[in-house]
Amino acid sequence: MALNQKTQYTDPVCGMQVDPGAAAAMTQYHGSTVYFCAKRCQKAFDANPQKYARQKPKGFWGRYLDRLNKATGGKPPSCCG
Ligand SMILES: [Zn+2]
Repeated sequence: MALNQKTQYTDPVCGMQVDPGAAAAMTQYHGSTVYFCAKRCQKAFDANPQKYARQKPKGFWGRYLDRLNKATGGKPPSCCG
């Protein structure tokens, strides 16, 4: 397990960790592959990629996730079933 470097990607729409092998959907954005937990998330991303692709500022993203966790009790939002 220690040597198993399994890469997890973050669904930029809902913030869920997505296993590339189990991703429900994916898309290419600026040369990198983006994985999604659900097709709905991919559609939301495709409709407005710039809104979701800006996840570099950790302050904003962290605050967003905090708010999300508060609102959902730590569970993924409804988009993820
Ligand atoms: Zn999602």
